[in-house]
Amino acid sequence: MNRQVSTWQIEGRSIILIPTMGCLHKGHIHLIKLAKKKAGNDGKVVVSLFVNPHQFAPNEDFDQYPRSESNDLSICQKLNVDVIFLPSVSEIYPSTHGLPFSTYVSENALSLLMEGQSRPDHFRGVTTILIILFHIIKPTHSVFGEKDFQQVAIVKKMISDLHIPVKMIIGKTIREADGLALSSRNSYLTTHQRPFANLLFRCIRVSRKRVREASHPVSALSLKHDLLKMIDETPEAKLDYLEFFDPISLKPISQVSRKDRIGLAITFGKTRLIDNGQM
Ligand code: AMP
Repeated sequence: MNRQVSTWQIEGRSIILIPTMGCLHKGHIHLIKLAKKKAGNDGKVVVSLFVNPHQFAPNEDFDQYPRSESNDLSICQKLNVDVIFLPSVSEIYPSTHGLPFSTYVSENALSLLMEGQSRPDHFRGVTTILIILFHIIKPTHSVFGEKDFQQVAIVKKMISDLHIPVKMIIGKTIREADGLALSSRNSYLTTHQRPFANLLFRCIRVSRKRVREASHPVSALSLKHDLLKMIDETPEAKLDYLEFFDPISLKPISQVSRKDRIGLAITFGKTRLIDNGQM
């Protein structure tokens, strides 16, 4: 990877990175296509496939996280990805002189909200792996999905705070026909749970409709009241968090207008799903 990147840099090429945890689906494919478009004829596209242990808490699904390496490779090849970067955990996090990995990068404001409340060290793991990938691959651009809106905001902040010379490209959320956002974790859903799993999208749609139909900002409390009822009535659904927030500060708001967003996490049995959307 280092040798390849040096050559590309000497040739003055743009390098577009799509960081993923593999098990590629139509959401990832959309991001790869955006990258190819940005790269044009001269730029290069790198997809990293790495299930990052540092962004999983000990009680989370690192071991069970779905892996489908050969399918991922054939998807990338079909899309003419220039390099598939598939490092091992020990290559990324070497223990030096017998000392384990101990250097982290953390964003300390936006990371404390929403996902950060439920998964305290998650974003520290994300920002740390991204710094490592940025150092190895030296991308000019990196592509992220709006599906993880909070992650996008945190990476944007890190790039700005740390003067990192990487431009972000953001792809829209790709959904199944019933609105469920594509996610590698959807494969955990049982056939009984699957029909209910578009609940998150229904929550986005219902609140969006109310905000768009109102002539004034709508009370977050009253929106939440209706959504909690919907969630309560959906079999197997258990709410983790539900927030209406400002798209820049990510802080909760009490009056919701069209620029604002909803973010939510709901579990179906052992499967935890997240989604978000603009009003
Ligand atoms: P992951 O492999 O889940 O870590 O995701 C890798 C990238 O794909 C992240 O930037 C995600 O936000 C993005 N992504 C995941 N699901 C979707 C989706 N349904 N639509 C668009 N992008 C997505």
